[in-house]
Amino acid sequence: MTSPSARATRLYPAAKPIYAYRVEVTELAIPDWAQSRRIKELTTSDSYIWLRGKALAYKLAQMDKECGGSGRCDRMEVRRCRVCGRYMVGLQAERRRLKDEAGYGGRKMPCDEECHERRYLCRKMV
Ligand SMILES: [Zn+2]
Repeated sequence: MTSPSARATRLYPAAKPIYAYRVEVTELAIPDWAQSRRIKELTTSDSYIWLRGKALAYKLAQMDKECGGSGRCDRMEVRRCRVCGRYMVGLQAERRRLKDEAGYGGRKMPCDEECHERRYLCRKMV
C-alpha cells in the first residue's frame, strides 16, 4: 500500500484492487442463492465457490461451520484484462492492476505473451 503523499504525486490515478472470496465448504451443499451469485468466469465445484461480496462469503462459511463443517473463506485479488478480456486471480491480477495504473498507455499493455493473440481469437468467435 502506498502512502497518501505518494498517491497524491502519481501521474495516473491508482487502480483500486478488486477482491473475490473463495469459500470452501465441507458439510453444507452450496445453496442456490450462492450459486446464482457466483463469479461465472471462475470454476466452481461442490466444495468451493467464488463470490464477490464479502458479507455473502462470510455468511456461507459461517453456515457451513454451523452445520459442523470447517468452512473457510479466502480473499484474492481479481481483475479482467482490458486487452484480451481474460479474468485473472491473485498475483496475475495484481500485475494487471500495476500495469493499468502505470501510465496513460498502461491499460493497453498486454497481460502476457499471448494476450494479443487471445484477443484476436476471442473476436473471431463472436
Ligand atoms: Zn490480456
